[in-house]
Amino acid sequence: MRKPRLMTPGPAPVPEDVLLELARPVIHHRSAEAKQVIVECAELLKEVFQTKNDVMILTASGTGAMEAAAVNTVPKGGKAIVLSAGYFGARWASVCKAYGIEVVNLETEWGRPVDPATVENALAAHPDTVCVMGTLSETSTGTGHPIAEIGRIVAKTDAVFAVDGISGVGAMECRTDAWKIDILCVGSQKALMLPPGLAFVAASAKAWAKIDAFNAPAFYFNLKSARKKMAEFDTPYTPAHTLILALRASLRRIHAEGIENVWERHRVMSEACQAGISALGLELFSSRPAEGLTAFHVPAGLKDGDIRNKLFDRFGITTVGGQDKLKGKIIRVGHMGYMDELDVIAGLAALEIVLNELGFEVEAGRAVVAAQQVLLGQKAPVAVG
Ligand SMILES: *Cc1c(COP(=O)(O)O)cnc(C)c1O
Repeated sequence: MRKPRLMTPGPAPVPEDVLLELARPVIHHRSAEAKQVIVECAELLKEVFQTKNDVMILTASGTGAMEAAAVNTVPKGGKAIVLSAGYFGARWASVCKAYGIEVVNLETEWGRPVDPATVENALAAHPDTVCVMGTLSETSTGTGHPIAEIGRIVAKTDAVFAVDGISGVGAMECRTDAWKIDILCVGSQKALMLPPGLAFVAASAKAWAKIDAFNAPAFYFNLKSARKKMAEFDTPYTPAHTLILALRASLRRIHAEGIENVWERHRVMSEACQAGISALGLELFSSRPAEGLTAFHVPAGLKDGDIRNKLFDRFGITTVGGQDKLKGKIIRVGHMGYMDELDVIAGLAALEIVLNELGFEVEAGRAVVAAQQVLLGQKAPVAVG
């Protein structure tokens, strides 16, 4: 029996104290006790999201928050600029199309960050844009996008800036208010250390002005209903309140560590993982890596499935491959949420063994040493040829 090691960019591991909350007898969702849980979560969520605005809790996977953001903000026939730099950027466009929202697709090569200047140009060319939709951490490519810079540009216009922070929030710096993010979407099963099932939306005053200006064709994902109930620390319909109980436990953990320390831990894990991968002569996929996961090219002559299956069979490590056009081309390793530097080192050690067993010779320990050097604050060794 292998110790399960879920090194995927969602779902991600859930800490023991959070899991225990899920084993409690179910209470009534309209009870004083249930309300008290939301009262506490409401405050803690603001801290994690770095916002003064109310954060709404939806019972859905992360995509539900994206759908809520789009349908409540942009009327049918209205225009959205979609910053499409991967599989999840493209999801914004799919959501828009489902609601008759006109999409201006701003494509960026997968693995590269969105260039803020292109957003500025697109907004100038499309002054009637209602919403710009971007991604903090593009999970399909392992890329972090310059959200603060883009936020400053969007803030100068009438458009609102909606950001998919589903795999980014809790894994990398995200200052919702300071960065002028008008609508932040987050899901529970990534760096927030919970199982799937909850989604979160934080909206600015600028966003609410747009939301209040029309009758959105939304019922379950109606943000006006959600806001009204959230003011009473309640939800319009039965929420997954068992998960909200677990949410309180995970948010307490983040609060105890301190959100800035949480970001720093992820930054170090990400740097250590990148150093290890590079030290083996493997090529990172992204030119601006996100901090909750690392994506790298499958080495020539090997199959991604062989590497990942062996990691699982030998060491219980689950990783994921590429999505869509990156299928078979990259491997993605998650290091988000309930993870520490030693998890990364263990993953790298396993990768060294697996690569050697598959006939791709690497010097045992090389990746581990490179990661250790990052932890020691030393310069990472130069990649081998
Ligand atoms: C996981 C993820 C999603 C999709 O979330 P679901 O919970 O599967 O609906 C969207 N965007 C990003 C960036 C993600 O990482």
